[in-house]
Amino acid sequence: MEFFGHIIDGDEVTSASDATFASVDPYLRQPWAEVALGDATDADRAVTAARRAFDEGPWPRMGHGERARILHRLADLIEAHADELGLADTRDMGKPISQSRGNDVPRAAANFRFFADHARLSTADTLPMDSGHHTYTRFEAAGVVAAIAPWNFPLMLETWKVAPALAWGNTVVLKPAEDTPASATILARLALEAGLPPGVLNVVHGYGPDSAGQALTEHPYVDRITFTGESGTGRIIAAAAARNLTPVSLELGGKGANLVFADANLDTAVDWSIKAIFTNSGQVCLAGSRLYVQRDVYTEFLRRFTAAAEAMMIGDPNDEATQIGPLASREHYTKVRDYVETVESEGGTILSGGLGDGWTVRPTVVTDLGQDARHSREEIFGPLAVVIPFDTEAEAVTLANDSHYGLNAMLFTDNLHRAHRVSAALHAGTVWVNCFFVRDLRAPFGGVADSGIGREGGNFSREFFTEPKAVVIQINQSE
Ligand code: NAD
Repeated sequence: MEFFGHIIDGDEVTSASDATFASVDPYLRQPWAEVALGDATDADRAVTAARRAFDEGPWPRMGHGERARILHRLADLIEAHADELGLADTRDMGKPISQSRGNDVPRAAANFRFFADHARLSTADTLPMDSGHHTYTRFEAAGVVAAIAPWNFPLMLETWKVAPALAWGNTVVLKPAEDTPASATILARLALEAGLPPGVLNVVHGYGPDSAGQALTEHPYVDRITFTGESGTGRIIAAAAARNLTPVSLELGGKGANLVFADANLDTAVDWSIKAIFTNSGQVCLAGSRLYVQRDVYTEFLRRFTAAAEAMMIGDPNDEATQIGPLASREHYTKVRDYVETVESEGGTILSGGLGDGWTVRPTVVTDLGQDARHSREEIFGPLAVVIPFDTEAEAVTLANDSHYGLNAMLFTDNLHRAHRVSAALHAGTVWVNCFFVRDLRAPFGGVADSGIGREGGNFSREFFTEPKAVVIQINQSE
């Protein structure tokens, strides 16, 4: 079995306790890698290294251009190791290789290129004042960043945090999810090869509660906590951060509403709605898991949607043609299986899909459930769409907004006025109109209500990962 260690202060190391854990390949349902199992002691080693690299090392003191050169080199190395990185995520969590290598790895490289350039080219306000002063703004590195990541887009979401944090001169301790440790260690090995000084990007493996994750959130040397994961975990982390007054950014769960109006191009709506709920076996915070369809096109939409769901290729995630792999772990499969098995007792109908082989759930289309059913309200995080008809635009907006979550929503319509009107009325951090998953890295990304606190992307990441400082200068020296 391959071994993945922590990366602390420029070295790949075992845990202080020598403990390890196995990462299980969910397709083979067998361990494929042995991983250092960190605890509070290892988290402290990593934070101490990051602190020293920030307080004494060259990284925060380099110019943006010099840091950008190293981060671009890292992006090139990520692309050069696309097979290794893609396979690591596929083996850790069963994501089809066409997505891990074909989408997540290029997006990871793009994150480093974008944030390196964004920091390098960034401008800041200078405010000439009537009083004869100038106030200008400096964006100074915040310090040590603890980045805690989920397992559904391991490399892509880790780099979404690590890239802006590094580009703005911070040092980082990354804790990947325990189900997906491998790509984080590979990333940190490549970062050292790219020329990142020791201690600038550290990786510590381990669990969350009472383990490495919790220790990072409580550590007094940590200046920023950036977290992506479940809303319940977000609450715990926010409470820990509050005790040290550490600024925290929380990207949490979702229950995306997808509104299909009768005036939409149905082919477009079906195509994107399929991707929105079944990509990555529905293990997507942005998944369009609540599908509201206007009654005039409800039957026809369902016919086409179900046919497209049934045509998806299910199987070995290592096969380029596979679109649906297994769920990420036994634990997660058991959770999603329970939702599938209780559809009928809740009064719903499974139109197509259901349980597959091993830990696989087939693309599942459910009707006859109301808005208040558990399946319509809770984040299932699996390939299960609840389809509900509506009559009017006002009703569609009310249904969409009737959720504790507010990460994103989608709508399909060919009516321009409706597109703007409904986009404005939806309570969500992102609204996609006639598309899904399209992302400009300059745009704000985050959620309202239980979907999170804060925004990341472009200037939003800059504000979070820096301490903006106002400098006020008197221009006309008084006599
Ligand atoms: P999770 O909350 O179980 O775990 C996320 C990370 O937090 C892991 O690294 C875990 O070890 C760590 N952790 C758990 N408890 C902790 C604690 N008490 N202290 C410190 N760290 C702790 O989430 P998950 O199951 O890995 O990911 C799935 C969830 O993430 C879903 O709810 C999904 O919607 C959400 N998600 C959100 C976004 C977004 O951008 N909003 C993106 C992807 C996933």
